[in-house]
Amino acid sequence: MARTPFIAGNWKLHKTLAEAEALARAIADGPREGVDVLVAPVATAITTVVAALADSGVAVAGQNCHQENSGAFTGELSPALLLDAGCSHCIVGHSERRTLFGETDAGVHAKTTALLEAGLTPIVCVGETLEQREAGQTLDVVLGQVRSALEGVDASRVVLAYEPVWAIGTGRTASPADAQEVHAAIRETLRSLSGEGGGEVAQGVRILYGGSVKPNNAAELLAEPDIDGALVGGASLKAETFLPIIAAANAA
Ligand code: PEP
Repeated sequence: MARTPFIAGNWKLHKTLAEAEALARAIADGPREGVDVLVAPVATAITTVVAALADSGVAVAGQNCHQENSGAFTGELSPALLLDAGCSHCIVGHSERRTLFGETDAGVHAKTTALLEAGLTPIVCVGETLEQREAGQTLDVVLGQVRSALEGVDASRVVLAYEPVWAIGTGRTASPADAQEVHAAIRETLRSLSGEGGGEVAQGVRILYGGSVKPNNAAELLAEPDIDGALVGGASLKAETFLPIIAAANAA
């Protein structure tokens, strides 16, 4: 089954409104034929970016959310409000949320479920630390995170992102072969989790790679059969580095 390549930019805690608008316009003006493109701006810039991308087909995501849609949750942002602001997706379980803000597997599952109930697509991030990789625990950790996030969930409605923690923002990238091994194992887990018809579900779900994806390494990663796109941090902050990654996905 052909899966449309998906390139997502995570802008993290960067960009003023004016900067976010300028970058969104540059992405809207760039070529992206045959590739689904998404950006995840800071919450304050979501509506500005949604307006700048109107009719472009480029999607907008939240970077995180709370699992409740409203209530006494000071400082939080809900799936319903992300939808209201024009988002179609939301990143959940990013390693920075897990390591810096105490996000648990149970929390990732609750948010994934809440996003789907609200009609948004979760981009569920999973990945091992360097210590876990060196201890030979990569597949146990990653597949455990996948199973936990997707328990009772219709996996056909999510996007997954494999992001080895040691590769995020470090300039270190998993080799295409190492990444492919994990992606294939995730797809096999999707198949087994989805019961009857699981093969079809697994073949349809997009699994992105994230971790220092740059214009000079995107093509070789995206050439792997189970790497369906990229979740890009640093290189998504400039059109000069983000647009070539989109072009690499188009060529893959
Ligand atoms: C990320 O933030 O998800 C990420 C992969 O960042 P970077 O591309 O900078 O490693």
